[in-house]
Amino acid sequence: MIIDIHGHYTTAPKQLEVWRQQQIDNLATPSLGPKASDLKISDDELYETIQTNQLRLMKERGADLTIFSPRASFMAHHIGDFNTSATWAAICNELCYRVSQLFPDNFIGAAMLPQSPGVHPATCIPELENCVKHFGFVGINLNPDPSGGHWTHPPLSDRSWYPFYEKMVEYDIPAMIHVSTSCNCAFHTTGAHYLNADTTAFMQCLTSDLFKDFPTLRFVIPHGGGAVPYHWGRFRGLAQELKKPLLTEHLLNNIYFDTCVYHQPGIDLLTRVIPIKNVLFASEMIGAVKGIDPETGHYFDDTKRYIEAADLSTEERHLIYEGNARRVYPRLDAALKAKGR
Ligand SMILES: [Zn+2]
Repeated sequence: MIIDIHGHYTTAPKQLEVWRQQQIDNLATPSLGPKASDLKISDDELYETIQTNQLRLMKERGADLTIFSPRASFMAHHIGDFNTSATWAAICNELCYRVSQLFPDNFIGAAMLPQSPGVHPATCIPELENCVKHFGFVGINLNPDPSGGHWTHPPLSDRSWYPFYEKMVEYDIPAMIHVSTSCNCAFHTTGAHYLNADTTAFMQCLTSDLFKDFPTLRFVIPHGGGAVPYHWGRFRGLAQELKKPLLTEHLLNNIYFDTCVYHQPGIDLLTRVIPIKNVLFASEMIGAVKGIDPETGHYFDDTKRYIEAADLSTEERHLIYEGNARRVYPRLDAALKAKGR
């Protein structure tokens, strides 16, 4: 089985965007609405947007199951207050749940959190509980910078996160560390802010003792880990300077990287530098990079091609495609086993 651990509902029906725009337009007077119940999207519409997009490409490229979460750049936690984010997150999560019900063999949900700048992360616990208990979600997207590119929030190691991490540990559920859109014009959202955040999150963990306090907490750092694998020597050297343990002990029992790296040399480096047990297959399809690479004639985000071409054994490839995902996402493994998969 090939599990893609990183997919977003980037193709949701237009009504969703219209609803969000109305919410933003009425931020000053939320009583003007819209209410969550004002959003009307039929199952047929959901079916169509998936069938003709993500599912079509999964079948063409050979992926079986996608861990599916709300569109990351649309989370925009910097907009409005906690109530704005709470309503928006609940709507977006429910749509992903409905997709997982329409296509139970191909999609399973991961939750967007109702984060808001300056608001305590524990406020996200009820939405997490709902997504796990009622929607059967197996993962979370956790935004390390709800300010949208201004980095006003304390680091991931800050104790304000601890009540939320305790709930993650209780549910044995991992979080993908995933920022949203950048409202800082110095940072392009997917080209700079995403990769900066991946690198920053890793360094926040490196300089802390977070995983001493939470030995079973697990983070997935997307987009191939940002700059981390490429600069692995720098990070190892910095850990040494800071008198931290070797990174294999300090971070690699808790941090994992996906394969959303859109060229062969990048995947070759990732799989050579980072232990295979820490690499999980993903494409982030349909995402930021939709075009065809003129050098190869194939889609940049057809990441399975790179894994196939990498110098890996059959067992290593199996770990990247399936084995590691089942280990890092135990609730996914349990859901699959319950269906005899
Ligand atoms: Zn993403």
